[in-house]
Amino acid sequence: MRLVVQVKLLPTPEQEAALEATLRACNDAAMWVSTLAHEQRVFGNYDLRKHVYGQIKDEYGLAAQAAQHVIKKVTDAYTTLKSNIRAGNLGAQGSRRRERAEGKPIAFRPQAAQPFDDRCLSWQMGAQTVSIWTVTGRMKSIAFTASADQLKTLAAWRKGESDLVHRDGMWFLMATCDLPDRPVRTPDGFVGVDLGIADIATTSDGVHHSGKGLNAVRHRHRELRRRLQAKKTKSAKRLLKRRRRKEARFAANTNHTIAKQIVTEAERTGQGIALEDLSGIRDRVRLRKPQRVTLHSWSFHQLGGFVAYKAARAGIALVYVDPAFTSQQCSRCGHVDKKNRPDQETFLCTSCGFAEHADVNAARNIASRGVAGWAVSHAADDAA
Ligand SMILES: [Zn+2]
Repeated sequence: MRLVVQVKLLPTPEQEAALEATLRACNDAAMWVSTLAHEQRVFGNYDLRKHVYGQIKDEYGLAAQAAQHVIKKVTDAYTTLKSNIRAGNLGAQGSRRRERAEGKPIAFRPQAAQPFDDRCLSWQMGAQTVSIWTVTGRMKSIAFTASADQLKTLAAWRKGESDLVHRDGMWFLMATCDLPDRPVRTPDGFVGVDLGIADIATTSDGVHHSGKGLNAVRHRHRELRRRLQAKKTKSAKRLLKRRRRKEARFAANTNHTIAKQIVTEAERTGQGIALEDLSGIRDRVRLRKPQRVTLHSWSFHQLGGFVAYKAARAGIALVYVDPAFTSQQCSRCGHVDKKNRPDQETFLCTSCGFAEHADVNAARNIASRGVAGWAVSHAADDAA
């Protein structure tokens, strides 16, 4: 399993100046290579290298590895563009969006992220520092911060490239780690997880993971956004962008915490985890509450992703179930009726009289669908 560990760098002013100059040089070079590739219609890594390698090293002061990474960054960007066009993501041939994308070279911001491999970046785990190649020479002993968990993962499984990222005045390394897959234990029942707005996640064991903090932040930001958007100045735009990132970071933190609690609960009780299959969520909810739920759907996908990788790391079984009618079905007798939901919070079965918090009832349905799903997919194992 591959995962990315993000650590924050704490460079001194001198180190920071060197990092900044390095990103600028790499991206200036990338911009030049991109323009040349676009003009001469040369997009392959090998062909492009013949044209530009020597010049990048000489004129932009890049070391051999950095020059190669710049070329790869450019060719990767064109490959992505090409596959986006092929997938129709930029519209049909001749559409304005597509013509605009194809009509000019791909641009690289002066401080865009840059990959570093083990030859230009080394980690001193004990001292919690890195040593990194820069245009002004090798910068040694740049301190970084990481949690105990991150340090353990980095020390054991870090492999290959890390991206140097400059964002909102801060410096980060995004390190790729390659973890071995753990065998999945046979679950003793399933924890069902229902996703919602007021409570982001509710489990079949009756635990509510509140979205109060997150919803408050979202609301505050929406108000601010409205005021800033009216202004339309450059500084307002910059502030907006920073706000959006801050909100995204807060949402990601919340989702990490919730995912960890759900996985810990499953681990402690020996259960597997059943999640709603969200692949159709956008189409489904657009019919009803357009803005509110599309706003949350990426956040649900993120939470699902966090649960999936934390479960995989812990060897916990994970099953995706069809979420249709989970909120209208009685988790005791199976009766499905809209009238089973007298209000948003309450489930009251019109057939058997079973009463429960609406989200807990839905989570129980998800849990029993998880049990059924697991049985179906493992029937062959049992027969063998
Ligand atoms: Zn019932």
